[in-house]
Amino acid sequence: MSNLNSGDLAAIWQITIKSMVDEELISQTACDLWVKECRLDSLDSETAVFAVENEMKRNIIADRYSEMLASQICKVIGYKPAIVIITDLSMAPEIVRLSHALYPTDIVRQREEASRDAAVDAAALAEDDNTEMNALIREAYPGIVHDDEDRSAPAAEPVSSERRLTYNEDYTFDNFVVGNSNQLAHAAALSVADNVGMKINPLFIYGPSGLGKTHLMYAIANRALKRDPNMKVIYVKGEEFMNQLIEAIRVKSNAAFREKYRRADMLLIDDIQFIAGKESTQMEFFHTFDALYEDHKQIIITSDRPPKELTTLEERIRSRFEAGLITDIQPPDYELRLAILKNKAQHNHMDVPMDVIEFLANNLQSNIRQIEGVIKKLGARNLLSGLPISMDMVITTLPEYLRDSEPVGDTVTRILEIVARRYKVTSQDILGSSRKKEIKNARNVAMYTVRVITKMSLPQIGAIFSRDHSTVHSNITMVESALTTDPLFEATVTEIMKEVKRVGG
Ligand code: ADP
Ligand code: MG
Repeated sequence: MSNLNSGDLAAIWQITIKSMVDEELISQTACDLWVKECRLDSLDSETAVFAVENEMKRNIIADRYSEMLASQICKVIGYKPAIVIITDLSMAPEIVRLSHALYPTDIVRQREEASRDAAVDAAALAEDDNTEMNALIREAYPGIVHDDEDRSAPAAEPVSSERRLTYNEDYTFDNFVVGNSNQLAHAAALSVADNVGMKINPLFIYGPSGLGKTHLMYAIANRALKRDPNMKVIYVKGEEFMNQLIEAIRVKSNAAFREKYRRADMLLIDDIQFIAGKESTQMEFFHTFDALYEDHKQIIITSDRPPKELTTLEERIRSRFEAGLITDIQPPDYELRLAILKNKAQHNHMDVPMDVIEFLANNLQSNIRQIEGVIKKLGARNLLSGLPISMDMVITTLPEYLRDSEPVGDTVTRILEIVARRYKVTSQDILGSSRKKEIKNARNVAMYTVRVITKMSLPQIGAIFSRDHSTVHSNITMVESALTTDPLFEATVTEIMKEVKRVGG
């Protein structure tokens, strides 16, 4: 892997960064502050070398993020490298670099100063000083609504959590693939985007993680912002919204809190299931909600469950939610998985053969985030090795998704356990020499199941059961003929097969 050029390294690094943020292992702000500007300098079979601009960054990354970096890179390239971080002053801002060039003898002093300044920044950050934090965040995020726009907001509020959205092309309706499981949510979202605050309010989207709730929420905002770039859209995570609310109540700034949110034309509350159960909080939430609602401000809420299952929620808030539109997103069916795989492959300019697409659509059933992750991994693998994407690559890159890749020994153990349970005997009985009828039956069924599921040869199976291959053969033949004549037996064996496959998935 020594032939990676800087373009390859940059691409691998981009994929790694995006997956860290997507999987919410690091906040966007922390990523922008510490991780994003690192440069992946080299990558071989053992070590990933990163360069950063100064000692402070080096220390922070080494302390807090190196383990995460190693495991994320592992997800991309298939093995876990040791992380080495070096400093490269040429990465520092222009002005520092220039002064080095002009006064080479001063480099040491400059370095000391740079790292002292950096240490001051770090200390300020560590203390969570809002002024320092805001300055840094302001640089990283020109779009954020800041405390200084609203002096009365609670002082302890983490600014990064609540974002004034600007147009963002990652999550749009254009790149949202519609299928049976999400078409109602999609239609509702589209209608909201085109009739902000006027038609469906609030819009409540629920469903399990990784199925596109946040994507749809952003898509609404993006579409509305494209039409009207001045629209004020505030995005906040449910948990954070609640924390702010609790704090506002504590410092008695309810009115200010309400006012702040009231200035939004569109309020997005993502993952509201973390809503607190306290009565005072709910009352304030109710009033905030009402104020926005009365002003025809658009409210969009997502949750992992429907309002009626938000058990700590007061009845009148629930009925407010229910007054709008509640729509769910279900796990994708095969057709949608197929369409999403094709879409993501195309989007990433990857050439993925149809057998691979079909295989993945069959095996990646639970969520779309996972599908995206797998496509990214294959893309990185393709880039690194120069090999075309193929089933061979899938097998070596993604063993965790392959039921067939389970060590055969584990499958056999499981088959023995499942059959033993059905026949109320033990695995030892099955492997032993008893000729009792139910043990013999269990043994024959186990041999048959092992043969069908693992496709082992007769002598291999014989070795497991301490029988010669002709005994294995005649036992399996016996089972096969009983299957055609005895429906009850057939049902039992089918159940066993199903169970073996289910546990394996
Ligand atoms: P949730 O908020 O429901 O946990 P997200 O909206 O974060 O899920 O979606 C997870 C990932 O899957 C995102 O990268 C998103 O772009 C992608 N995704 C989800 N649904 C779709 C879809 N229908 N079409 C294309 N990409 C999707
Ligand atoms: Mg989400």
